[in-house]
Amino acid sequence: MSSAPSKTAPDGAAFPFDNSYARLPSHFFARQMPSQVAEPWLIKLNEPLAAELGLDVEVLKRDGAAIFSGNLVPEGADPLAMAYSGHQFGQFNPQLGDGRAILLGEVVDRNGKRRDIQLKGAGQTPFSRRGDGRAAIGPVLREYIVSEAMYALGIPATRALAAVSTGEPVYRERVLPGAVFTRVAASHIRVGTFQFFAARGDTDGVRALSDHVIERHYPDVTGADNRYLALFEAIAERQAGLIARWLHVGFIHGVMNTDNMTVSGETIDFGPCAFMDAYDPGTVFSSIDQQGRYAYANQPGIGQWNLARLGETLIPLFDEDQDKAVDLANTVIKGYGARFQAHWLDGMRKKIGLVSEEDGDLTLVQALLAAMQAGQADFTLTFRRLSALAGDEAAEGEFLSTFDGIGEAMGWLVGWRERLSRDPQTAEERSSAMLSVNPAFIPRNHRIEQAINAAMDDGDFSLFEALVQVLAKPYQDQPGFAAYMDPPKLEERVLQTFCGT
Ligand code: AMP
Ligand code: MG
Repeated sequence: MSSAPSKTAPDGAAFPFDNSYARLPSHFFARQMPSQVAEPWLIKLNEPLAAELGLDVEVLKRDGAAIFSGNLVPEGADPLAMAYSGHQFGQFNPQLGDGRAILLGEVVDRNGKRRDIQLKGAGQTPFSRRGDGRAAIGPVLREYIVSEAMYALGIPATRALAAVSTGEPVYRERVLPGAVFTRVAASHIRVGTFQFFAARGDTDGVRALSDHVIERHYPDVTGADNRYLALFEAIAERQAGLIARWLHVGFIHGVMNTDNMTVSGETIDFGPCAFMDAYDPGTVFSSIDQQGRYAYANQPGIGQWNLARLGETLIPLFDEDQDKAVDLANTVIKGYGARFQAHWLDGMRKKIGLVSEEDGDLTLVQALLAAMQAGQADFTLTFRRLSALAGDEAAEGEFLSTFDGIGEAMGWLVGWRERLSRDPQTAEERSSAMLSVNPAFIPRNHRIEQAINAAMDDGDFSLFEALVQVLAKPYQDQPGFAAYMDPPKLEERVLQTFCGT
C-alpha cells in the first residue's frame, strides 16, 4: 500500500503552514510523501493543542484519521524527511535521518511560536535503511502518555497532537498493530543534525543550520559579538536546566543518543523512557542499555558528553584560530557542570520547601536522597508526603511509612525542621509551594503497560484515556484517581522497557 496520498484538504482543514526548514538548502532533507495505510482510525486527538495551533478542531475530529495517518496531506504541507547523524551509545553513525518520520510542515501557533507537525510511523523514507518506516501501537501510546505528562509537569517536551491506528500489522519480535503518532515540536533539530554536516566537512551547512536555529530558538544571541559561541552557551544553559528537571521528577530518558537531543531544549524521543518508583540513582529500564550508560544519575554527565559533540561541530565557527576556538568550546563544556548543579540544587531546595539559600543545603538534600535509597522510598511519594508534612505535623506517620526502616528518615526530619526554622515562609505557604513542585501523579511504568496491553489485546482504550486525563493535572490531588498515585505492587512491577522500533 504505497500509492500517493490525496493532496486535497477538506474545506476548513487548512493548516496555516509556513515551512521554513523546507527553504533551507536541499541537502538538509529529502522530500517524501507519507505512505497510505489500509484502515486509519483516530485513537486520540489532542483538542486543546489543536486549538493552540490554530487548527479547526471540528474538521480534525471528522478527518483526523485520514490526515494523521498520512492518507490525506493537507494543503500547504511540504512533507520531508530530515537528514541527521548521531552517536548511538557512544558510536558515531554518520547516516541516520528520519527513517519513519515525515515532517508535514510548520505552523505559527496562537502565541506566535513556530511549531513542527510531524508524522511518526508514516512509511519509508530515503533514510529508512532496513526499517519498515512504521510504528507499533505500544510505543505510540507510550509517547502520547509520557510526552503530555512531561508538558503538564512543566518540563519542556515535544507534544502529542494525535494517535491513529493504521489497521495494518507491523512485524517486530511479534506481529503488532500499526499506528502513527503526530508529534509537535519547537523544531526537530538535534545535536545529530549539526553532526550530519560537520561529519561531511560542510562548514557552510553547519553555519546555515546555526543561523536557522538562532532565528528560530535563540533570537537573543543575534547581536552577540560571537553569535555562534553565544548560541552554544545558550544551548548549554537550556540542556542543563532540562536535565535537572528530569532528575527532579525521577525521569529516565533511556536513550540519550545525540540524535535524540534537541537543540531547542525540549525533551524528545520517548522510546524506552520511564519514571523511577523507588529511588535508586543507578536505575535503568531500557533493555538495550546493558552498561547503564543512560542510568538516572548518569544523565547530567551524558548531557555534557552530548554537548561536547555539538561543540565539536561548531569549532570552525567560533574562531579562525583553531586553538582559540577549541579553548572557547572547552570553556562552555566545562561550565556546563556548574550550570547543571545550580539548576539541580535550586529545584531540590524547592522540593524540600526552602526559598532561602544556605551552604549546608546541598548536604541536607543529599542526606534525604541517601535515606530514600537506603529505605527504598518511592521517589514521588516521598516528596509529595513531605509537602503535606510541611503544612501538617499529623502527616509525619504517613511520610515515614514511605521508608523501609524509618530511623534514617526520622533523623533527617530533625535537621530539616531546624533548617526550616531559618527559612522565611509560613508552614501553609511552604506546603502549598511544595505541592506545586512535587507531583502527586507521574506516568508510572506499570500503568502505562496496563494501558498499552488493554488497548492492544482487547481494543480497550479506557485505561489510556484515564491515564491521559489524570496526568494532565499532576500537581492536583484527584481523589477519584487516588490509586494512580500508588507505586506498583511487587507483581505489577515493570523493570524493562523497549525501544519498540
Ligand atoms: P530511534 O531509536 O527512534 O531514535 O531511531 C534511531 C534511528 O532509526 C532514526 O534514524 C530512525 O529514523 C530510525 N528508525 C527507527 N525505527 C525505524 C523504522 N521502523 N523504520 C525506519 N527507520 C527507523
Ligand atoms: Mg530518535
